[in-house]
Amino acid sequence: MKTQTAATKTPVEHFDAVVVGAGMVGTALAGLLAKAGMQVALVEVKDTPLMLTAFGDHDPLPRVSALTPVSQRLLTHLGAWPAIAATRVTPYRYMQVWDAEGSGNIHFAADEAGTPVLGHIVENDVTLAALHEKVLALPTVSTFFGATVSALQTTDTGRWLVLNDGRQLHAPLLIAADGARSALRKLAGITVSEDAMGQDAVVTTVHCEKSHGATARQAFIAGSPLAFLPLTVKGDDRYCSIVWSTTPQHAEELVAHSREEMGMALEGAFGHRMGKVRVVDSAYRFPLVQRHAAHYVEPNFALVGDAAHSIHPLAGQGVNLGFMDVAVLAEEVIRAWQRGAPWGALSTLHRYERRRRLDNSAMLGLMKGFKVLFGSEAPVLTLARNMGMSGMNQLVPLKRVIMRQATGERGRLPLSCR
Ligand SMILES: Cc1cc2nc3c(=O)[nH]c(=O)nc-3n(C[C@H](O)[C@H](O)[C@H](O)COP(=O)(O)OP(=O)(O)OC[C@H]3O[C@@H](n4cnc5c(N)ncnc54)[C@H](O)[C@@H]3O)c2cc1C
Repeated sequence: MKTQTAATKTPVEHFDAVVVGAGMVGTALAGLLAKAGMQVALVEVKDTPLMLTAFGDHDPLPRVSALTPVSQRLLTHLGAWPAIAATRVTPYRYMQVWDAEGSGNIHFAADEAGTPVLGHIVENDVTLAALHEKVLALPTVSTFFGATVSALQTTDTGRWLVLNDGRQLHAPLLIAADGARSALRKLAGITVSEDAMGQDAVVTTVHCEKSHGATARQAFIAGSPLAFLPLTVKGDDRYCSIVWSTTPQHAEELVAHSREEMGMALEGAFGHRMGKVRVVDSAYRFPLVQRHAAHYVEPNFALVGDAAHSIHPLAGQGVNLGFMDVAVLAEEVIRAWQRGAPWGALSTLHRYERRRRLDNSAMLGLMKGFKVLFGSEAPVLTLARNMGMSGMNQLVPLKRVIMRQATGERGRLPLSCR
């Protein structure tokens, strides 16, 4: 791993690609490009990479993601999955969704979809630490931690950027993977449509009386999705990670609760399905805003992951969409680079945008639709969604289609995800 620290005036350093943002998405992208032999710079504002050894005996962290089997295949391709699996992952084979306002419910099972699991719940920092350990060790990756971009310019041959400590980088391709509030997107002048969802997500970790049974559960309570995501900690399968997306006012009340009050609120809202619920961590609150960049690419520049789109967490798709972005972008860029074609040219980057934009838009639209459908107390909509859910529950072929979508098996998958 080569972490450069020299902060004196330095000559411009040239790379094949510069990735800004060493989160899960940016690090995965740097890994894919570097594995193909490209010289990649990875710039990250945080001071140091994460280490897997830090997770040994820790309680689970509150930020988790439901990773699809397709994302798992990408992480396997990058060599990160074995370390993730050896640290802490919880496979889930079943999913239950119900409407707390009525009788509608739907169950999904992995064997109905012909797949061993529907996905895995993984703490974000476990995924990130495994990626950091694998990707930053590649000889073709140079890391610039503790740095941000203070200036960005276009040259005849690509993008030139100045870091806050004066170092200068140049590459035919610059990729912004710096998250939902992307500073680079702003520097590039790309606008973004914002859809405040009128909800905040409250996350915490609980220990329940009943086993989670490898099941991801979600109840819609007057338009507020409450998820109990299964976590197994040192063989104990009664932990769950909580994501409750609710009104900002209710979220404020929830995070102000004592752990005991929060446990009672969760128990009641979930209809006591998990028995007694004991909260084992603080509760954290995140405002939910769906964002979509007006376009993903410009000459020598591309957006990926949350920098391009951020999505309501109710279907657990955010980082999975980001991983698909990087798999597709890397495929297009590496193909051009190997042929000696200009890999930062719009003709190359447009192929990435064409392959990803529709899928991301569809998922953002679907989350909006869910929110309208489940947020309404109008009797006709309540009846329709309850009949719809229960009716759909009888239709195994239709459920199979939904499960293929939810597990990421959509469209033509890039080679790194097959
Ligand atoms: C409550 C909640 C639950 C969620 N659950 C799920 C789920 O179950 N499944 C799922 O797929 N997704 C889920 N998501 C979404 C998921 O967390 C995000 O989609 C994912 O973290 C985005 O990854 P990213 O790498 O694109 O961005 P980020 O994780 O935001 O990473 C950006 C990186 O860039 C760095 N950075 C920022 N600015 C700069 C700068 N100027 N210069 C240099 N570096 C910079 C940051 O430090 C960070 O390391 C959830 C989100 C929320 C809020």
